[in-house]
Amino acid sequence: MDSRNEPRTGGVPTIVETRRELAELRPHLGTVALVPTMGALHEGHRSLFRLAAEHADTVVASIFVNPLQFGPNEDYERYPRTFDADLEVCAAEGVRAVFAPSTAEMYPAPQVVTVNPGPMGGVLEGEFRPGFFDGVLTVVAKLLNMVRPDTAVFGEKDAQQLALVRRMVRDLALPVRIVGAPTLRDPDGLAVSSRNVYLSPAERTTALALSAALFAARDAADGGGPDRPLAAARTVLREAETADPPLHVDYLTLVDPDTFAEIPGGSAHGGAAILAVAARVGATRLIDNIHLVL
Ligand code: AMP
Repeated sequence: MDSRNEPRTGGVPTIVETRRELAELRPHLGTVALVPTMGALHEGHRSLFRLAAEHADTVVASIFVNPLQFGPNEDYERYPRTFDADLEVCAAEGVRAVFAPSTAEMYPAPQVVTVNPGPMGGVLEGEFRPGFFDGVLTVVAKLLNMVRPDTAVFGEKDAQQLALVRRMVRDLALPVRIVGAPTLRDPDGLAVSSRNVYLSPAERTTALALSAALFAARDAADGGGPDRPLAAARTVLREAETADPPLHVDYLTLVDPDTFAEIPGGSAHGGAAILAVAARVGATRLIDNIHLVL
C-alpha cells in the first residue's frame, strides 16, 4: 500500500499556510478531493470529508473566512473561528492537509478581477446579499487554482452556491469534478450550520420552522404542481412569524434546480424543483432547502 493511502485516523494533518508550501506538497498527494470551508467545523463538514475520501487518494480541507463574500453589515468579524478544534476534526476524519491561508496570502493585492456569477447570482441569496456570489465564486476559483484538486465537494445545504460552482466550472472549463453532498440535519430537523451557535434556545426553537416548512412542502408535493407544497410551507412559516422570538422570512421560493429560475405559484410546472428558504431569527440569518418533485 502506498503510504498516502494508509488510514490516517488520529494523524495530524499537514497545515499549509502559503501558496508556495501548497505547490511543494501537491505532487506528493496523489489525486485530491478538496473540501472548501470557512472553519467552525461541525458534523456537516465531517460528512463532506467522508464523502471526499470516496473520490480521491487524499482529502484536503481549506479553512478560510473569505472577507470578499461578506457584506458591510454582515457577521465577518464575529464569524466563529475555532482553528484548534477544527484541526482535531480534520485529524479524526483523515484529512491529510489543511490549507489555511491568511487574508494577505489569499488577497495580496486588491481583488480587481472577480468572477461574475451572471443572472443566477442575482436571485435569492444574491438578491439579499449583493456581491455575495461574486465573492464566493472568486475565492472558489482561486482555491481550485491553488490546490489543483481532481474533485471538489460542496454541500447541498448551500444549493445555490453548489449550482453556481457547477456552472462556473462548466462555463470557465475548469478541470475539476464537482460533487454535491446531502444536507446533514440535527435530529430535530434543523440543518447543521456554523451559525447555529449564535442561536439562543428560544431562537433555535423558532428556527425549526425552516426545516418544518420544507418537510411540510415535501409531504404536500403530490405531482399536482407548485401550489400545494408552497401553501403547506407558507402555513408553517406564517405561524413562526408570530412566535416569540419571531421569524422574519427573507424568501420562500421554488426554483429550477439547475438555473435557479423561479417556478411561480399557479404555474403548471412539473418535475424536479428546489424549495429554498431564508429567514432571520434575532440577529442570525439561516438558509435551508429541499428537493421536491412537483
Ligand atoms: P461553510 O464552512 O459554511 O462555508 O461550509 C463549507 C461547506 O460545507 C459548504 O460546501 C457547505 O455547503 C457545506 N455544509 C455546511 N453545512 C452543511 C450541512 N449541514 N450539510 C452538508 N453540507 C454542509
